[in-house]
Amino acid sequence: MNILFFGPNGSGKGTQGAIVKEKFNIPHIETGVIFRDNISRRTDLGKEAKGYIDRGELVPDSITIPMILDRLKADDGKNGWLLDGFPRNLTQAQELDKALKKEGINLDIVIEMMLDRQIAKNRIMGRRLCVNDNNHPNNIFIDAIKPDGDKCRVCGGDLKTRSDDQDEAAIDKRHNIYYDSETGTTAAINYYKDLSTKQEGSPKIIDLDGRPGVQEVTAELVAKLG
Ligand code: AMP
Repeated sequence: MNILFFGPNGSGKGTQGAIVKEKFNIPHIETGVIFRDNISRRTDLGKEAKGYIDRGELVPDSITIPMILDRLKADDGKNGWLLDGFPRNLTQAQELDKALKKEGINLDIVIEMMLDRQIAKNRIMGRRLCVNDNNHPNNIFIDAIKPDGDKCRVCGGDLKTRSDDQDEAAIDKRHNIYYDSETGTTAAINYYKDLSTKQEGSPKIIDLDGRPGVQEVTAELVAKLG
């Protein structure tokens, strides 16, 4: 099962993505996580990407597109993958589509999580990352996933914040990219919606309301995945 997961930063995509990953037993490939991992390991890629990420800008396509296309070829993706954070603009969507067609790989599902940008911004600022596992959801503003004191609510690990999560200008820039329907992420989503219309429902498009609590959103997602 090959799935794309769209949603503005702060919509809860990472949390819900973990559910999809479990359900289909596929790797959850998150572009932002790959970049942050490279930054913490001080690789050349990390050094190159850091400035863009701190400012809330996209890392250039010339770096991001080959990195992801390469990642999709890894062994763990043989039975499918869940891609989260890519494509983030129209060019990336077109390049991904081209690469998949070339390899004869079908895109099965496109999930779009919808959330008002102000709510998303508040959630971003409350988000805390577990040092042990990126898929342990913690947010100081959301009761259902509130940390246990200053520790991860799942494993008790230490928590940290992302520097680009505490900077309002960077958050606004990320959201401007997301809601840009000319060349940004919304343009990429529309590209897949058009494709789905042309190809009689393939990929399947799933719309998800990101406003309710974590469990309600999960229930809607699971019901729509079938
Ligand atoms: P995220 O963890 O998805 O919020 O991503 C954090 C940052 O990584 C973004 O603000 C971008 O700077 C960079 N990034 C993530 N995905 C992409 C992408 N598909 N293209 C370019 N830059 C990206």
